[in-house]
Amino acid sequence: MSEHDTPAVAAYQVVKRFHGQEILKGVDLQIRQGEVACLIGPSGSGKSTFLRCINHLEKIDGGALYVGGELMGYRRVGDKLYELKEAEIARKRAGIGMVFQRFNLFGHMTALENVIEAPMRVRKVPRGEALDQGKILLERVGLSHRLNAYPSQLSGGQQQRVAIARALAMKPTLMLFDEPTSALDPELVGEVLDVMRGLAEEGMTMVVVTHEMAFAREVGDCVAFMDNGAIIEKSPPAEMFQRPQHPRTRAFLAKHL
Ligand code: ADP
Ligand code: MG
Repeated sequence: MSEHDTPAVAAYQVVKRFHGQEILKGVDLQIRQGEVACLIGPSGSGKSTFLRCINHLEKIDGGALYVGGELMGYRRVGDKLYELKEAEIARKRAGIGMVFQRFNLFGHMTALENVIEAPMRVRKVPRGEALDQGKILLERVGLSHRLNAYPSQLSGGQQQRVAIARALAMKPTLMLFDEPTSALDPELVGEVLDVMRGLAEEGMTMVVVTHEMAFAREVGDCVAFMDNGAIIEKSPPAEMFQRPQHPRTRAFLAKHL
């Protein structure tokens, strides 16, 4: 198997419990390198939890989760699993960019400072180099004219684009988006989706939790429908939206298309 055949993400029967209650009930999902996987499903079905498991912000209680062919968060020795040390987990996590519904920018830092913070602190990139990179990234998300603006001076759409640039500054091989446009005023959704579409065209592997069905249809290579802690249907968007197989998928899409 060549490196390119290694799935970017491979989840096998992933189980997650909170206070004894099973929230993820055996999630299976494989995503190829360069693929854009859109995850849809009702609120409370476990989409955010699953994303957080992918970068080990949540520990899984069963099954297995591989990112880039490596077990996420654990080392297997014989038939035993040992959790990796925090520093090793941090190193792995650094290769996975995450963009949340809320922009989570540092309010006391400018757009450019927000973007250079992690590369300097985590990757030890020299300030000059980080600044050059940061400016390129902010230009890429259409914000070269707002380098020195503070988050409070930016619209929600601009803040979310800074958040995307900040994630990209760590040179991730995988980007996770958790409803990145849900908190935005409708007129600002498009500019964020445009940036994401550009990333997809450049070949970035992306897992996108979204209610933007038009985006999923146009940009997604596959759409997975999650309900009640499991992925119950996954198919290319044309199939998913035209011929959903599962009754629960049909019921969900009937409400959301
Ligand atoms: P979605 O993103 O699909 O709306 P979530 O993954 O946020 O769903 O939540 C799935 C379920 O897990 C919900 O019932 C939620 O209350 C529960 N849950 C999520 N995070 C926690 C947590 N840290 N502690 C306890 N319950 C949680
Ligand atoms: Mg969620």
